[in-house]
Amino acid sequence: MTAGGELALSVVIPMFNEEAVLPLLVQRLRPVLDGLGETYEVVAVDDGSADDTAAILHLLRRNWPELRLVRLRRNSGHQAALTAGLHRSRGDYVVSLDADLQDPPEVIPEMLELARSRQLDIVYGVRGDRESDTVFKRNTAGLYYTVMRKIVGKKMPDGAGDFRLLSRAMVEALRSLPEHTPVYRLLVPWLGFPSGEVSYVREKRAAGSTKYPLTKMIRLAADSVINFTAAPLRAALWLGAFGVGATVVLTATTLIAWANGTVVPGWTSLFLAVLLFGAVQLICLGLLGEYVGRIFQALQARPAYFISEDTVEARPPSQRGA
Ligand code: UDP
Ligand code: MG
Repeated sequence: MTAGGELALSVVIPMFNEEAVLPLLVQRLRPVLDGLGETYEVVAVDDGSADDTAAILHLLRRNWPELRLVRLRRNSGHQAALTAGLHRSRGDYVVSLDADLQDPPEVIPEMLELARSRQLDIVYGVRGDRESDTVFKRNTAGLYYTVMRKIVGKKMPDGAGDFRLLSRAMVEALRSLPEHTPVYRLLVPWLGFPSGEVSYVREKRAAGSTKYPLTKMIRLAADSVINFTAAPLRAALWLGAFGVGATVVLTATTLIAWANGTVVPGWTSLFLAVLLFGAVQLICLGLLGEYVGRIFQALQARPAYFISEDTVEARPPSQRGA
């Protein structure tokens, strides 16, 4: 497989139905990369797009030999596409970037410079402000980062998404992890390599529409928590303990009242208690199911993605695995 030392820089860009933004992306990205005066490759990962993303990339490649197309056979999700790109990248440094120009390519030279001058393995792109995001996105993102920082530790900078630079050593460390559903924005800080930050202003998506509907956001949040900690399971245990405590207190007060000659009227409270504990049990079972399901997936060990084409590889498609 690929290793570093062949190129100075790889720029990995997952793309899902991004035909609308591609010309603008090339217009902004290419001058920046050519201006570096170093060897580089742009790894465009087509995450099973249904539009003309792949066809346009093929066209663009005619005039831009550094552009490399890695196609996934089916839509596998942003993080899986990122995985494919990282695993196939060849640069000494690897920058990951969204296709929609929300991560400005003009920041890349600054990231590279910082990593080299201070010998850093990670340079996070940190969002200076989120003016361009909707109020809903800003609030949910705020909550996400607060919870995640608790899980991973303080090292995770606020507002660091998937726009970042990684050293070859860092990419290899990530590759060596057998994670089934890697969530890079957590795994990267968790590994504890020396890191720095470059702040940037997050612009609006340049063209096309978001590929992250609420369902995908929820899945990312669930993956983030469940892959990193068993705390929710422990919380279920505490909830159970609290239930037992509450029951003991309620029983005692009821008995005392009964001894004093008052019978507590109870159909409503009985019904509510049954309902509450039924619901709590279902939630805990569901939670358990999430973890068991992931164990099942890990045992199945299906590849997170399948590559159907890589313009750098000369081998015929039939011999390519994930
Ligand atoms: N993306 C992907 N596969 C998916 C969904 C998204 O490769 O299944 C890519 C998408 O093309 C973009 C990046 O992930 O380059 C981030 O997506 P988007 O900008 O739509 O997310 P948002 O900024 O709205 O959170
Ligand atoms: Mg975006």
